[in-house]
Amino acid sequence: MKVTVARSLEEALADPEAIFLAGGTDLMVGVNFGRERPEHVVSIRGLSELGDTSVGERVRIGGGVDYTRVLDALGEHSPALVQAARTIGSPQIRNAGTIGGNLGTCSPAGDTLPVLAALDAEVILRSPAGERRVPFSEFMLGPRKSARRPGELVEAVEWLDAGPSQAFLKAGTRNAMVIAVANLALVVDRARKAVRVALGSVGPTIIRALEAEDLARGLFEESGWERPLRPSQAAAARFGELAAGAARPIDDQRGSAIYRRHVVAVMARRALARTGEVA
Ligand SMILES: Cc1cc2nc3c(=O)[nH]c(=O)nc-3n(C[C@H](O)[C@H](O)[C@H](O)COP(=O)(O)OP(=O)(O)OC[C@H]3O[C@@H](n4cnc5c(N)ncnc54)[C@H](O)[C@@H]3O)c2cc1C
Repeated sequence: MKVTVARSLEEALADPEAIFLAGGTDLMVGVNFGRERPEHVVSIRGLSELGDTSVGERVRIGGGVDYTRVLDALGEHSPALVQAARTIGSPQIRNAGTIGGNLGTCSPAGDTLPVLAALDAEVILRSPAGERRVPFSEFMLGPRKSARRPGELVEAVEWLDAGPSQAFLKAGTRNAMVIAVANLALVVDRARKAVRVALGSVGPTIIRALEAEDLARGLFEESGWERPLRPSQAAAARFGELAAGAARPIDDQRGSAIYRRHVVAVMARRALARTGEVA
């Protein structure tokens, strides 16, 4: 295996067959277990071009930004992504693992992915041909399959600041250091009158729960977008049912399909209660 340390984007993109190495928290597990045998690995860790973050009307996080820096950079902004970053691995994993790596692996259980779906984020891809922007809704094609072409770098992710009414919830087989049995992000963009619910680890891709979104939008319309939402028990239960109905879970070693649907309904109700309170 040949290993190159890229000192610029040009060097990183020079070999379209090369496999990128950022934090290595997915790639090296694959190599150590013999699942991956890359011939040429290009380390992109430390490339300043992938390390920028900016917060404003648009929020931008570079593909090489690790989770510890996501927590520092976002502070009060995009709280669902902050909540997701906090649940990832351990401090060591958060110091090494990156957003670009989560998108590069593109596992249905990746914790940032439902958040990026609910934020309606764009994935910015870079190749020698230039920049390509792909909405998250078109990025993930299946388990570990994405619209990213061989040799393309995730340069950054970007979204319109959606305000503070956001929640991310994750259920696992224990409280920390755990792959999600199911995860869910809810973003209520009160200024643009939009609600987006995205589910992870309950299907081959991240799933938007569109009927649940419609119901919640109606509830916010009725109560006023600028005011706290306190849904009735029946409305909250229906929201949970619709979210669970959108899930397409399987039975596996981490949980049964029935449990996953149940947990999605519970998380959806909790997420609605939390985002409703924040006006
Ligand atoms: C103990 C442990 C706990 C974990 N816990 C969690 C968890 O709770 N939640 C979770 O979601 N994940 C978890 N993970 C998985 C992993 O940490 C994340 O997916 C992380 O975001 C991967 O980032 P990385 O920089 O380490 O990627 P790497 O391992 O370096 O790369 C992963 C893949 O992405 C590609 N890649 C990396 N960067 C880019 C880029 N900028 N552009 C294009 N392709 C790129 C690589 O070529 C490779 O195919 C855990 C892993 C371990 C080992």
